[in-house]
Amino acid sequence: MAKRVTKGFASKTERALMDKLKKCPICDEDIVRVKHIKTSSTENSMKFTENVIKVCKCNKSEIYK
Ligand SMILES: [Zn+2]
Repeated sequence: MAKRVTKGFASKTERALMDKLKKCPICDEDIVRVKHIKTSSTENSMKFTENVIKVCKCNKSEIYK
């Protein structure tokens, strides 16, 4: 289920900010952006929420259980 998003000025700014966070200042490891899809089901439908999370040594163990 790919969604086409129009890239505008806002997303460019966002990317520039994100690129600055490539290394974690705490553990000094590279931060990897991982797409995390959360499914939640209600009574008659399923909902998919797509999140991009940043993973480094600090939270790796929490995310990859
Ligand atoms: Zn870290």
